Amino acid sequence: TKRILLNSRPQGMPDESNFEFDEQEISGLEEGQLLLKSLYISVDPYMRGRMNDTRSYVPPYKVNEPITGGIVAEVVECRNKKYKKGDVVMGNLPWQTFILSDGNGLTSIDPDLAPLSYHLGILGMPGLTAYCGLLFIGEPKEGETVVVSGAAGAVGTVVGQIAKQKGCRVVGIAGTDEKVAYLKNELGFDEGINYKTTSNIKEALEKACPDGVDVYFDNVGGSFSDAVYTLLNKYARIVVCGQIALYNSTSRPTGPRVEPILLTKSCLMKGFIVSDYADRFGEAAKELVSWVKTGKLQYEESITDGFDNLPEAFLGLFKGENTGKQLVKVADR
Ligand code: NDP
Repeated sequence: TKRILLNSRPQGMPDESNFEFDEQEISGLEEGQLLLKSLYISVDPYMRGRMNDTRSYVPPYKVNEPITGGIVAEVVECRNKKYKKGDVVMGNLPWQTFILSDGNGLTSIDPDLAPLSYHLGILGMPGLTAYCGLLFIGEPKEGETVVVSGAAGAVGTVVGQIAKQKGCRVVGIAGTDEKVAYLKNELGFDEGINYKTTSNIKEALEKACPDGVDVYFDNVGGSFSDAVYTLLNKYARIVVCGQIALYNSTSRPTGPRVEPILLTKSCLMKGFIVSDYADRFGEAAKELVSWVKTGKLQYEESITDGFDNLPEAFLGLFKGENTGKQLVKVADR
């Protein structure tokens, strides 16, 4: 099997030198084991945090060991009673073309439910993050204004569309004019702001949100958020989902004090990790599947071909190269 290991811990923006490729022999299956062939591998912003040697809600990757993450794989050999050859499974697995597994931590996938890649996106972690964060923390109500940062990504595209379904005015922030046009023309966002080319973000936000901001779904953080906070309405909810603008910072980020705003406007600001809502994944997944099937929810993927391009696809997340969910296709089923 080919493998990709963490070669070194990045300082600031990671690059290809932080990854190392090697090959390893996989020999004979023991009783209870199965051999998996990777089909789709997910690259996600949170992985950047795991490249650091700091404690977080997931432990750091180890140097000289494979990177791990969400993978959809096919069972190609099987000595485990729970599975059979040809089954499709998903799990948090090592970046390898073939993987030896004892079956622990694997989830079966119904290949007829949706395209296999969807289980790493709209029907997987990013979709559930959007659903749970927006509906259980943001609680958007008809007529309210919802601002979403990182709007053209895996989580943001879903957040904006659900908010539209709830009858909200939706304003998305993204890094290119093409992405802004996509949000407005394809996904039905009311307004979009290109944060890279807009010189006065606060003015642009005021124009896009004439009635202020009731829900801020934050995927990005940093100075953009500082501008949003000045427009919060009474009882606004701030869903702190991601802070990608800060993931490569080498110094401790600082900003204006937000507490006086939260206090005087009676706002709720809440961070969350999607697994906090694990007991509600069933209802969330059921609804997401039905929205995708009925076309109520558009879904976009950026699929890079080839295992060797995994590091490049991962690094692209921090350059805004993806629209929708970024995945790497490794093999056909
Ligand atoms: P995306 O698909 O949104 O990909 C990342 C996007 O972030 C890029 O396309 C880029 O778009 C934007 N971006 C990158 N660097 C910056 C920057 N410096 N400033 C502003 N924007 C930037 O990723 P996901 O949808 O998977 O994740 C979105 C966020 O949600 C991340 O912060 C992630 O960590 C978080 N998350 C949190 C979870 C939780 O449990 N709390 C679970 C899943 C994700 P652009 O062109 O617009 O710059």
